[in-house]
Amino acid sequence: MSIADNITSLKNETKALKVSLLAVSKTKSVEDIMEAYNAGQRLFGENMVQELVDKYEKLPKDIQWHLIGHLQSNKVKYIAPYISMIESVDSLKLLQEINKQALKNDRVIDCLLQIYIADEETKFGLGFDEVVELLRSDEFSELKNVRIRGLMGIATNTDNEKQVKDEYYELKTFFDGIKLSFFRKESSFDTLSMGMSSDYKIAIDQGSNLVRLGSTIFGSRVVKHWKNN
Ligand SMILES: *Cc1c(COP(=O)(O)O)cnc(C)c1O
Repeated sequence: MSIADNITSLKNETKALKVSLLAVSKTKSVEDIMEAYNAGQRLFGENMVQELVDKYEKLPKDIQWHLIGHLQSNKVKYIAPYISMIESVDSLKLLQEINKQALKNDRVIDCLLQIYIADEETKFGLGFDEVVELLRSDEFSELKNVRIRGLMGIATNTDNEKQVKDEYYELKTFFDGIKLSFFRKESSFDTLSMGMSSDYKIAIDQGSNLVRLGSTIFGSRVVKHWKNN
């Protein structure tokens, strides 16, 4: 199946379930992205700031870009003018910097808090306690140019479906609790980003409404820099 065919069928599949489809285009060429774009896809995700900046400059401006990878505070300024959502917020310090850069650009930046749910040491993210602490802090209440739209999590990379299911179940339960405790009156707290190519069906079953799909759309990634493709 072509990239365009994959987009069409995944859009149908996710739309029927009221789930948003983020096309993860990291390492993929501008041509591949344009094929998805021409099939109607507008929501794209990248995990590296430099790659995102390069692609932003070359591609149509009605693409909504999500940053899904670990973000260093000193790089926020490069994407602040246009980023549609930062899904990978993993500290108050980063959130404060996003707020600062959003203010400079006279806008509000939508963010997800990335929650650590995997049984792996390599994944970034906040623990459940840290989220509560962050949301309760005075520092957080002063941030007027960021809007927390929800949570994001990456499950353990394993064939054990039960484990993946349990991790996503736990995150959905936590999401519901956080919504009740901190965002009861804010309908904009509505996004639970869970699920990648290998596990998105499980994630949707567990309550995800935003899936981040790369290889299912674009084919597997060769490990080389996208510019050399
Ligand atoms: C790469 C990546 C994805 C997509 O991975 P696939 O397995 O190719 O679907 C999703 N989320 C994050 C955070 C990623 O870095």
